[in-house]
Amino acid sequence: MSAIERDVDAVVIGAGFAGLYAVYKLRELGLDLQGFEAADGVGGTWRWNCYPGCRCDVASMEYSYSFDKELEQEWTWKERYGAQEEILAYLEHVADRHDLRRHFRFETRVTSAVWDDDAERWVVETDRGDRVRARFLIAASGNLSLPNTPPFPGIDRFRGRVVHTGTWPREGVDVSGRRVGVIGTGSSGVQVIPMLAQDAEHLYVFQRTPHFVVPAANHPLSEEYVRETKARYDEFRRECWQTPFGFRLEVNPKSALEVSEEERNAEYQRRWDLGGPELLGAFSDIMLDERANETCAQWVRDKIAEIVDDPETARRLQPTTYPIGAKRLVQGTGYYETYNRDNVTLVDLLEAPIVEITERGVRTEAAEYELDVLVLATGYDGVTGPLLALNPVGRDGLTLREAWADGPHTYLGLGVAGFPNLITVTGPGSPSVVSNFALSIEQHVDWIADLLAHMREHGIRTVEPDPEAQEAWTRHVREVAEPTLFTRANSWWMGANIPGKPRVFLAYLGGVTPYKERCDEVAANGYEGFVLTAAEPSPA
Ligand code: FAD
Ligand code: NAP
Repeated sequence: MSAIERDVDAVVIGAGFAGLYAVYKLRELGLDLQGFEAADGVGGTWRWNCYPGCRCDVASMEYSYSFDKELEQEWTWKERYGAQEEILAYLEHVADRHDLRRHFRFETRVTSAVWDDDAERWVVETDRGDRVRARFLIAASGNLSLPNTPPFPGIDRFRGRVVHTGTWPREGVDVSGRRVGVIGTGSSGVQVIPMLAQDAEHLYVFQRTPHFVVPAANHPLSEEYVRETKARYDEFRRECWQTPFGFRLEVNPKSALEVSEEERNAEYQRRWDLGGPELLGAFSDIMLDERANETCAQWVRDKIAEIVDDPETARRLQPTTYPIGAKRLVQGTGYYETYNRDNVTLVDLLEAPIVEITERGVRTEAAEYELDVLVLATGYDGVTGPLLALNPVGRDGLTLREAWADGPHTYLGLGVAGFPNLITVTGPGSPSVVSNFALSIEQHVDWIADLLAHMREHGIRTVEPDPEAQEAWTRHVREVAEPTLFTRANSWWMGANIPGKPRVFLAYLGGVTPYKERCDEVAANGYEGFVLTAAEPSPA
């Protein structure tokens, strides 16, 4: 295919949940669009992460688009938490239904985006030699789309196969009868480990920091539940909006410290049995008060000891160094039980860190583990990674890496001062990674579409945050996070998983509804906090 050279209204980067909806909405405005997607099709996260066991951890009937009321009725989710294949099929269906693919060029990575201040256009280039000039650059490039591959010494000499969960080969990886190692025990590791254990000859799990894992309690959705939910879908969506993070969670208004131990434990057990995120809603102060949090953390540690047969393995699996919930609460299916299998060994990297990857496998300070397949479940350069990898160049040659040298500065997670007409969907400083993404993406894209319509109506050429408004918002994001326990772990939410990354909480914790209200208020007040440049009056 020959390189594209064209002028358009907007370039959209990414064809996941966000890019697809952005193209749908902006096309409604009659804009001329060019989408680029590095993958060979739509789906984003749900295309890349085709590792065994991958599924969502926000319930499918909530983690889906609400904009298409017919689709809501026609699509029937099979399970409480849809498997990767099902979510990908859903996004493929959305792309077909709304004829969205034709706006994208796939297998094409945007490699450069430079603001031309004279022409007031973004000049966008790709690894296919495309060069597109666009008034707007819509970054729907994802928060978890840049896999983190730690620079383990020697990784290139390993004779076996190395795969990352975030770029899992579509044809699958046959592990039957093979010795497999998994590095990483976050959400991805916890999903893939029980699946690999079923087929591998032996599975070695290399764990650095144990995560708190609760049962997903995934199950097929009953016809009755689906029917009842569809019959009141608008109300169901409103219930999501009434929660802090956009997925339905009943938060008990009581403090964990005001009830008897018996009542507390009964509540934890009830929530554990319900599965999913329920445990953290057991009491109102779990994420606010260290002592309240510790009651919950200890309850889960005791559970781990109950489930895991070998007391030493159980001890190693028990997190003790950070509050529960301060790293994303991981949902698993048969995770702790997996360590009761004869063919699974937990290797504790805190006791003996990885020294190198050898030709044969992983060598820690204590031993060498011979492997045929090495799985990296080592996560992502989250939130800012994909944007900084692109490193757009704004006004006066300012690069995003320079602008964000001490952490991201944004206004509402939607725009960055010095980068006119760059719009970030679920950017840093918005609820993004602590929220139900489907809901947050729709809210952002709707707001963006309104902004672009407003600009057209009023003959406005450029929009960018006012630096003062941006700093006030960035401060606010940090001030909201600081008193919570969310900041008390070395999590990817804090940027702590990437050496040298500034340590700041990357998302807005103030809740999806207060956030939406703020965005709406900004719009109602003529996009206050943004600098809008009106068109020159045309000569008489
Ligand atoms: P993505 O789906 O990440 O899509 C971004 C796309 O942009 C990617 O396909 C990428 O290839 C492309 N791209 C990036 N940079 C470039 C470039 N320079 N040029 C061209 N293309 C580019 N969230 C939830 O709310 N609930 C869940 O249950 C949930 N489960 C998850 C499970 C996994 C395994 C992972 C990794 C994430 C999960 N998330 C979940 C977060 C998930 O990323 C979002 O829910 C959602 O899919 C994000 O959609 P998006 O379109 O913003 O980004
Ligand atoms: P993650 O939570 O960042 O976990 C990465 C794991 O790799 C951690 O255990 C980490 O240990 C380990 N690790 C990283 N670098 C290492 C190194 N150099 N040496 C040894 N261990 C190392 O990444 P993830 O599991 O991919 O999940 C990321 C996010 O994606 C999740 O929080 C969630 O938002 C989303 N996700 C959701 C689901 C779902 O259930 N729906 C599934 C997958 C992903 P440390 O903790 O010590 O750093």
